[in-house]
Amino acid sequence: MIMLNLTRSAFLRSALLGLCTAGLLTACGGGGQDDNVWSVGTEPAFPPFESVGEGDELVGFDIDLMRAVAEKAGKTVEFQSLPFDGLIPALQGGSIDAAISGMTITEEREKTIDFSDPYFDAGLAIAVAEGTTDVTSLDDLEGKRIAVQIGTTGAEAAASVADAKVSTFDSAPLALQELANGNVDAVVNDAPVTLYAIATGNIPGITVVGELLTEENYGIALPQNSENLEAVNTGLAAIKADGTYDALYEKWFGTAPLAQ
Ligand code: GLN
Repeated sequence: MIMLNLTRSAFLRSALLGLCTAGLLTACGGGGQDDNVWSVGTEPAFPPFESVGEGDELVGFDIDLMRAVAEKAGKTVEFQSLPFDGLIPALQGGSIDAAISGMTITEEREKTIDFSDPYFDAGLAIAVAEGTTDVTSLDDLEGKRIAVQIGTTGAEAAASVADAKVSTFDSAPLALQELANGNVDAVVNDAPVTLYAIATGNIPGITVVGELLTEENYGIALPQNSENLEAVNTGLAAIKADGTYDALYEKWFGTAPLAQ
């Protein structure tokens, strides 16, 4: 009997592994096949937080930060590139263990997923073509054409503007390019990303106006009740305490972080 049980469980194990490899069994769960690997989703068109480097590898503040946090927990990270609006469904479906993607902690999202402690202070800004003089606030965008990235807090803010014609794009750079091309009057997007696009010269002829529209905090997203939440928060606290966080901030933003 014991033999039979062993044989049966060995058979089941290899059958399940086969399904996992074939990608047919979502219950295998993100990094579930290997307890030392976290499978982490990201939408890699949000520099300097995440983007695709010259050798096709993922680079950015979030990428380095996630690896450093995982290291503190004795884990390695395997990144999965996903559309931004596919990250929360992937967390809910169990095909990834976590997501890091400049994702703002919001009450709405917290109904379906969990967030780590905040790791970055951000906020929304309005970008317009250089020389624009009639836009300094969200109200000034009434009746105007606004480009946004799908599924973002920027898209939500734009949706609240009366009579605005909002067009949605898969990534922030595409929305900003639409502005540079003169096809829309404004972009509502995370300030650090828009400012980075301007500073690097990637998107010419645009500028940021007015004040930040919101104060937002980015968090690492996890499935609800994830067993990894505590390890992620402990890792975050550890990299803040030992100077790793400051070094990464300096590397990607060129300045020391403001006191948080
Ligand atoms: N911070 C914004 C949000 O969470 C945008 C994130 C992104 O586009 N990667 O909606």
